[in-house]
Amino acid sequence: MKQSYKREDYRGIWVIAEQDGDRISRVSLELLTKARELKEQGKLAEPVTAVLLGTNLADFPAKLAEAGAEAVILVDHAALRYFRNEAYALIIKELVEERKPSVILMGATAAGSDLAPTVGAKLWTGVAAHCVDLKLNDQGNLVAVVPAFGGKVLGDILCPELRPQMATVRPGILGKALCFPHDHYQVEHHDPAAALVKDKGLVQAIGVSYEPVQGVPLEEAEVVVAGGFGAATEENWQLVETLAGVLGGAVGCTRPPLDEGWARDYQMIGTSGKSVRPKVYIGVGISGATHHVCGMKDAGLIISINKDEKAPIFEVSDIRVTADVATILPLVIEGLQKNSQDEVCRLA
Ligand SMILES: Cc1cc2nc3c(=O)[nH]c(=O)nc-3n(C[C@H](O)[C@H](O)[C@H](O)COP(=O)(O)OP(=O)(O)OC[C@H]3O[C@@H](n4cnc5c(N)ncnc54)[C@H](O)[C@@H]3O)c2cc1C
Repeated sequence: MKQSYKREDYRGIWVIAEQDGDRISRVSLELLTKARELKEQGKLAEPVTAVLLGTNLADFPAKLAEAGAEAVILVDHAALRYFRNEAYALIIKELVEERKPSVILMGATAAGSDLAPTVGAKLWTGVAAHCVDLKLNDQGNLVAVVPAFGGKVLGDILCPELRPQMATVRPGILGKALCFPHDHYQVEHHDPAAALVKDKGLVQAIGVSYEPVQGVPLEEAEVVVAGGFGAATEENWQLVETLAGVLGGAVGCTRPPLDEGWARDYQMIGTSGKSVRPKVYIGVGISGATHHVCGMKDAGLIISINKDEKAPIFEVSDIRVTADVATILPLVIEGLQKNSQDEVCRLA
């Protein structure tokens, strides 16, 4: 049920951080740095607060403080070893009702994308999902920037009346976390016992397993060859994979090759996929929708191949090649292979 409350009672920015037992997730650190930026922009007095749930959390506050947290709330309990939506949401709801943050940010990870709407529904407030930027307007309200209409425009989402204002952001979209001086930060412990009593335990997590990634991980590759719908045939997709192999890079994709079954979900680049910053990005048969461009625009050198000279991807490209994938890729691959053979002969 909707609660009646005063908007002005809600203050400060929280980041619901994630950890996997060994480390804090990259997006949580990126969000803390963004939260500090928003705090300074809005001249907010309240400390930027990281909330961390799990077990054996004692080593994590320093890392959170380094990325921008001025206060850390730890909810450390054996029942929270693995992420469980219901238990985590009940605890966060309880904390929010007690302490009333104005803004809550989460990573648009598998867990964050599950948790944010559940918390939003329990608190009867709005959630802007998969944002690509976050700002404060003149009234101090959160402006969550989200691609709309198939990525053709960027829309501002506001939640002017309800509190807290919630948003999720994909890893890598906001840029790297900064390193803040962190000699002084507060750490508080929250006992989740009361909230956990309400957890019906309908879903029990018994472990976590990770899907093995083939080849060079996309986020770490210095060269990314990304294929789009213009390369989504069996022959053309093989060319994309061969080019990536010859360059020692990783294969990325837009959404259509994923839908067609040529690529795997961990290869998608963009607002619903990964953000990459390779030294070289080669886009093959990609139109340049905002949903994709948001995930690759910060690459060092952007080379695009498209048969349409007016393709929007060319607007963000350093090198534009107007050509058919099926014609140009075999020539590029042959040239690169010949060069590397010549190099081997020269060194031998
Ligand atoms: C909520 C939401 C989230 C989304 N998230 C993502 C995301 O994270 N990542 C993502 O990529 N997309 C995402 N999308 C989809 C996105 O909006 C675009 O539809 C998608 O990026 C387009 O992919 P594309 O450029 O491969 O295909 P198209 O837009 O169809 O473009 C294909 C291009 O290939 C060119 N071409 C065709 N044949 C050839 C050829 N033989 N040789 C050379 N060029 C050729 C064409 O000229 C065209 O420019 C999302 C959409 C929504 C609604």
